[in-house]
Amino acid sequence: MVSSRVNAISESSTIKLLNKENELRKKGENIISFSIGEPDFTTPRNIIDFAYKSMLEGKTHYTPSSGIPMLREKIAEKYSKRYSIDLNSNNVLVTPTKFALFISIFSLVDEGDEVLLPDPGWVSYSEMVKMAGGIPKFYSLKENDGFSIDQEDLKNKINEKTRVILINTPSNPTGTIIKKEDMDFLKDFVMERNVYIISDEIYDKLVYDGNFVSILNYPEIFHKTIFVNGFSKSHAMTGWRIGYMIAESDLIKIFDKVQQHTLTCAPSISQYAALKAIDDDKSVMEMVDEFKKRRDYIYSRISKISIFNTVLPNSTFYIFPKFNLPMNSMEFSELLLEKAKVSVVPGISFGKNGENHIRISFATSMENIKEGMDRIEDTFK
Ligand code: PLP
Repeated sequence: MVSSRVNAISESSTIKLLNKENELRKKGENIISFSIGEPDFTTPRNIIDFAYKSMLEGKTHYTPSSGIPMLREKIAEKYSKRYSIDLNSNNVLVTPTKFALFISIFSLVDEGDEVLLPDPGWVSYSEMVKMAGGIPKFYSLKENDGFSIDQEDLKNKINEKTRVILINTPSNPTGTIIKKEDMDFLKDFVMERNVYIISDEIYDKLVYDGNFVSILNYPEIFHKTIFVNGFSKSHAMTGWRIGYMIAESDLIKIFDKVQQHTLTCAPSISQYAALKAIDDDKSVMEMVDEFKKRRDYIYSRISKISIFNTVLPNSTFYIFPKFNLPMNSMEFSELLLEKAKVSVVPGISFGKNGENHIRISFATSMENIKEGMDRIEDTFK
């Protein structure tokens, strides 16, 4: 028998689709994948070279659990400058981004505490809350207003059991950033209540237009803030498993305890790679330019297909069109796989409000995007 906590976790709802996709591939079908959640680029060469050199120099041992001092300092320095906030290395814990989210939820949530999550929102938040013994509750994003936060809904959902509000800007799956007026609202909301705010900003470098506002823009609530970020999406480093969290030093000490007794430390090699990556804005800009071209192209193509209604994503490599057909998102995704030979993620995976949507990732070559869009267009002619 496994524990009731683990029993409560849902398996990925897309497994069935993935199996079908693999079956089709085995039969020799050429499937275009729009379901990928990671950049198609290889990690920039200078980062790989630096990590390799570090390995040869023997940087292959345990590091301090909170991360190598120089990396923590550089991260603190970078965000101090970027958001005019006073940070030092004691405000930083180096850890894989997903684990940073888990550590913060695990450390702040007691049995039966509630955590408010965005709907639609990324698939792992709710399962992490359950693993920590908490109860996931959802606040809506308003699609008719560019997926802005439904402030009334958030006010209605909060109660004395709410411990954490989680936000994700830019958002997976909507591809949109939280507007300044909503961030201002969140600041007041959190300030007046006994809650923490976890802000997952892992896509913050992939912003194409609009005024991006970080939770670190609000030093007034820094003592209640856990900021989470990483190198996966910005530097094409998903496989290195490297990210970080920023919070008050007392909180970081608590998070570090969890890290000490679980992960020990982030992989040393990846930490050295991150030391190079953090100064490499040039590679990020090149990838962002390419993503923006793809975003413009795919949005123009999708907008011309009459069954779709689509919010222009101003960030990330996702687009989240709503389809107008009498079927649910799982059926629609199966149809796309079978008829168009294109794989997407059904919107229901991201919550109730994701139903009747699909998530298309444009983290694939322009050639694939063109071919995939031709196939989708032909299917619904
Ligand atoms: N947060 C969001 C919104 C994500 O989409 C992802 C990955 O897909 C993560 C966090 C986790 O990032 P990593 O793979 O670097 O741990």
